[in-house]
Amino acid sequence: MTSTRRPLISGNWKMHLNHFEAISLLQKLSYALTDADHAAVDVCVHPPFTDLRSVQTVLDIDDIPIALGAQHCHDEDSGAFTGEVSPAMLAKLQVRYVIVGHSERRALFGETDAGVNSKVHAVLRHGMTPILAVGETLEQREAGATTDVVLGQLSAGMGGLKREQAAGLVVAYEPVWAIGTGRVASPGDAQEVCAEIRRQVGESFGSAAAESVRIQYGGSVKPVNAADLMAEPDIDGALVGGASLDADDFARIVQYRLAS
Ligand code: PEP
Repeated sequence: MTSTRRPLISGNWKMHLNHFEAISLLQKLSYALTDADHAAVDVCVHPPFTDLRSVQTVLDIDDIPIALGAQHCHDEDSGAFTGEVSPAMLAKLQVRYVIVGHSERRALFGETDAGVNSKVHAVLRHGMTPILAVGETLEQREAGATTDVVLGQLSAGMGGLKREQAAGLVVAYEPVWAIGTGRVASPGDAQEVCAEIRRQVGESFGSAAAESVRIQYGGSVKPVNAADLMAEPDIDGALVGGASLDADDFARIVQYRLAS
């Protein structure tokens, strides 16, 4: 059966680009993408916090059909949390997607499964869509623990969700060893884990949620490998880091369906 899930290609700009550079990249990307691309694929960019307002203004004024994303947020709406940004503030900026639990946040900033879960709820509370990132390290893969690790992060991250919330979620399967390394998972390996993720969503939230939840693959996605990954039945999109900083490369990833 052909999936009815709309592909979602997301660009995670990480801690790159000031607001002038962000606008310039956005404009180049918008010129490179066609109406046919937007009809076929949802596209989202995740600039650093300091760029969000500028990017949102350009998206709005130029009526560009690219969604605005954030890379992270706090789980409280306001308070004495120096340096943090609340989901309420992001929602006010028309942010649509928030990455939660990226492996860099887990490894470098001590994000725990419990913290990730409360952020998933906070993002949903404000009408935005969490992109819940899960993935194993190289050591865990080599120890044969990939499925246990990924499904453990998944069930912790999705704890307490209602079926319809689970159905609307985006999960990003990002093997840590593939992020920023140029070492991409094979389409078959990525598919195997994404199928496990979908199976577990079905077990916990029912078959309708499993059929609707969108699962992205992330980890060294480039124009040259995007089409093969996207051809897998349980891969519904890509979370792209490095290649999203180049408008042509990112556009070619969005246009994976045109690759021969
Ligand atoms: C990421 O930042 O989530 C990522 C997958 O990065 P890269 O595409 O550079 O591997």
